[in-house]
Amino acid sequence: MERTFTALLARMQELRDLQGIIGLATWDQETYMPAKADGARAHQLSTLQGLYHERLVEPWLGETLAWAAEQPGLEADQRAMVRVLTQERDRAVRVPQALVKALAEAQSRGLAAWRQARKEKRFSIFQPALARILELRREQADAYGHDGERYDALLEGYEPGMRVARLTPVLTALREALIPMVAAIVAAPRRVPEVLKGRHFDGEAQWRFTLRLLEAVGFDLEAGRQDRSIHPFTGGTHPSDVRLTTRIDEANPLNALFSTIHEAGHGLYEQGFSEAHYRTPLAAAPSMGLHESQSRLWENVVGRSLAFWEHFYPVLQEAFPQALAGVDVGGFHGAVNRVSPSLIRTEADEVTYNLHIVLRYEMELLLIHDELPLADVPAAWNERMKRYLGVTPPDDTQGVLQDIHWAWGEFGYFPTYSLGNLYSASLYRAAERALPDLTGHLRRGELLPLRDWLRTHIHRQGYRLPAEELIRQVTGRGLTDTDFLDYLRSKYGALYGISL
Ligand code: ZN
Repeated sequence: MERTFTALLARMQELRDLQGIIGLATWDQETYMPAKADGARAHQLSTLQGLYHERLVEPWLGETLAWAAEQPGLEADQRAMVRVLTQERDRAVRVPQALVKALAEAQSRGLAAWRQARKEKRFSIFQPALARILELRREQADAYGHDGERYDALLEGYEPGMRVARLTPVLTALREALIPMVAAIVAAPRRVPEVLKGRHFDGEAQWRFTLRLLEAVGFDLEAGRQDRSIHPFTGGTHPSDVRLTTRIDEANPLNALFSTIHEAGHGLYEQGFSEAHYRTPLAAAPSMGLHESQSRLWENVVGRSLAFWEHFYPVLQEAFPQALAGVDVGGFHGAVNRVSPSLIRTEADEVTYNLHIVLRYEMELLLIHDELPLADVPAAWNERMKRYLGVTPPDDTQGVLQDIHWAWGEFGYFPTYSLGNLYSASLYRAAERALPDLTGHLRRGELLPLRDWLRTHIHRQGYRLPAEELIRQVTGRGLTDTDFLDYLRSKYGALYGISL
């Protein structure tokens, strides 16, 4: 095969097309696929993934990428494409096929054992499967290669460029700032009541409201769609075909509202890639943390702000005149921002959420370093829950067994959630500097100026730069907890009437 950039580009396009079809089959699996197609779809997906892997590890591609990296005539974007695909390919070729197979098997056993352990509320049932997963993930980390820190090699799969030595000091400082902040809020004399409890919110009206939100944030419904699924997600085949899902719960409208805004944040990112990058490795976020910064910015920083609801609450009240009778915008804003230390990560508020993540990150380091006997995992978990959040899980299902990630072998994933929160606050602060009337825009329901600013500075950049470099370019500094902590202090200080 010829060694030209044109041939290389054709392979990049082919790889992206395969990913797009995998995305379509996966989206369908989670939304409309008949239950009986489960087994057949698993085969189809595994065949497609096998094809993708074959095309990726082919020696011709490795040789051509190495050749292209030496060509002085390439443009900056072409060089970035070569760099990104080389990174992906290098990781894929370093893991022997036998290990890939063993991991897939260990994950599927892990998942079954985790489900059974959750049913019986006993970690010990999951323990042998977890031991096997950890053994293989350590082996995989060594196959990827690292400078003595195995966790770095796993983190690289979700957050390229991030390192434990960079991340640990930031997350530890965040933890030390959050523990007293949570305690101060819990002790605050002002109560924030749960005004939405015990009311009924019609599902169809909720669905119509989520579509209004999508329109308001500028999600293009001719280049995407929204459907329903049990666990909301963003997928799709291409920037012109971005699929969001949401979840409707008639007892709690916040599920659908915030799932839609969150996924729309992901979806705007996907729709916003530059046309020049379509079907290349640059039409992608440089990291999961950066992707999550977009969803959290829209969901939390915008979607849970008073300014946003000053415009949208009257619209919501019009959709639910009975259910929201007697609730004013202040009461509603309080209800969507109540701080309450709790057991379950996915139900946590903005202030306590990152303590759940720091806990998991610390546990993952111990597990990957083999510094914690597995039998002691539930006790170590519960001890940290008590120390960080002041709560103790009554059983393992509401404690160490609550997340699916470890059963899937996903070590290194959790910290990307906190990175998303930290980056979202820094980006919003930069947007406020660039758009002096940003709060006024939100108050008037004008969300497009913010979307367009993000589009220019984040979305259209794609994967030209690693995540932290892009953040530095846009905000003037790299990863920091300062902007996020300032944001929490000012918002929750006002809400609870205390100085934080
Ligand atoms: Zn997300």
